[in-house]
Amino acid sequence: MELERSQDVARKASKFPRIPGSNITGEVVDLGDRVDQWYASTQICSSCGERGQKKAIDVREWTCACGAHHDRDINASVNLLRLAN
Ligand SMILES: [Zn+2]
Repeated sequence: MELERSQDVARKASKFPRIPGSNITGEVVDLGDRVDQWYASTQICSSCGERGQKKAIDVREWTCACGAHHDRDINASVNLLRLAN
């Protein structure tokens, strides 16, 4: 199961341009004022950009209308990495 998760992270990360001097498993990226506490990182599909409905905290996986299936935390991480770029 852990191996599948790592492969999923690598697959999603490969869709986005690399951030100079960092990687998805490496250093912390300072988002500064590019994101506020209300940014809906878990609600926005990292594949198509559509903002879905608010999800209860126990919803750990979801499928967007575009067909992309997401792990909640990985999807949020990809959205935040996109802001850091
Ligand atoms: Zn989508």
